[in-house]
Amino acid sequence: MAPGATGAIAGLAARPEGPIESDAVIVGAGPVGLFQVFELGLLEIKAHVVDSLTCAGGQCIELYPDKPIYDIPAIQVCTGRELTQRLLKQIEPLGATFHLGQEVTSVRKRDDGRFDVATSRGTRFITKTLFIAGGVGSFQPRTLKVDGIERFVDQQLFYHVRDPARIAGKRLVVVGGGDAAVDWALHFAADGPNRAERVVLLHRRDGFQAASASVTRMREMCAAGAMQFMVGQVTGFDEHDKQMSALRVTGVDGVELQVPADMLLVFFGLSPRLGPIADWGLQIERKQIVVDTEKFETNVPGIFAVGDINTYPGKKKLILSGFHEAALAAFGAAGYVFPEKRILLQYTTTSPRLHKVLGVETPPLD
Ligand code: FAD
Repeated sequence: MAPGATGAIAGLAARPEGPIESDAVIVGAGPVGLFQVFELGLLEIKAHVVDSLTCAGGQCIELYPDKPIYDIPAIQVCTGRELTQRLLKQIEPLGATFHLGQEVTSVRKRDDGRFDVATSRGTRFITKTLFIAGGVGSFQPRTLKVDGIERFVDQQLFYHVRDPARIAGKRLVVVGGGDAAVDWALHFAADGPNRAERVVLLHRRDGFQAASASVTRMREMCAAGAMQFMVGQVTGFDEHDKQMSALRVTGVDGVELQVPADMLLVFFGLSPRLGPIADWGLQIERKQIVVDTEKFETNVPGIFAVGDINTYPGKKKLILSGFHEAALAAFGAAGYVFPEKRILLQYTTTSPRLHKVLGVETPPLD
């Protein structure tokens, strides 16, 4: 994801010490996972949300941030990015905590009926209910296929930028032709605290999928000598004292050049994979989780699946369908979170309790 691509998220979690006890954990911060926060919030169930991406929005942000969507009720048109920003704004009062840049790797039922949930970065939860809003699966970066280069991952080779300060002052090569590659190359070539000693943007052809304003800026920066653009592909590397010291880059003419590099950022896009979800004991049909249509609950009581990841007779993979599923799944979960309580349907228009939850004023009676 390019720098500054989405709005800030309130409620980003600090790294916890022990397991976090929660009423609900949502796997996936796509549009449906975000709306699940809202529907749970109306029932006073606070959620923790985990996503393998470093930002919220799922497919809307990763695959079509600037394309228009025309079938969200009452919004004539909005882009994938705008929909994500509106959903984030809508759920702000509901106090969800986000754990981004980590994949949920394991889910196990405990003897007390709750679930142990763990992520790839060591965050652990004990939760009464689990919502899988994993879409087409967890998005993973497409990797650079060069023999032996994988040993530099997270040292000198990165597929996400988590700590820009590590790259400041270094000789940087950025590979790719989309927004993330161009925007990060511009970021590290610009004056500022993170400026790299040298920035080379490398793409297999002289044509980009990035926003045209960013490409124009990149060409201006190249003309001014602030960065360099090369057409070619990484075909090897050199090392010195077990550190990567240069890349071997083969151009379209087949000639191999040596490009000095201390740091390498690769942005080849993301590919989804169902990944660990397949191992959680859930009934799966053609890579989708089977649910009922009353509560969108899976074969494991207390685990719900909503949005693109689920299947049932008549399923349509639309955001609208996912929103409906999230509403019914929240009511389904309330029985586990508040077993003693009778849950009544209330309208946001007229319910003082819901106004309190949403932090809005109750209008005076007519
Ligand atoms: P996603 O948006 O796929 O989000 C799932 C999230 O879960 C991802 O961020 C993923 O990283 C995360 N995840 C998965 N597994 C894990 C794990 N184990 N740990 C942590 N995180 C995990 N729909 C419409 O209704 N109208 C349209 O006009 C429309 N246009 C579209 C245009 C395009 C080009 C595409 C590709 C899709 C379009 N869709 C449209 C479909 C719509 O985007 C999807 O239906 C919607 O994104 C599904 O939302 P979701 O939250 O279920 O899943």
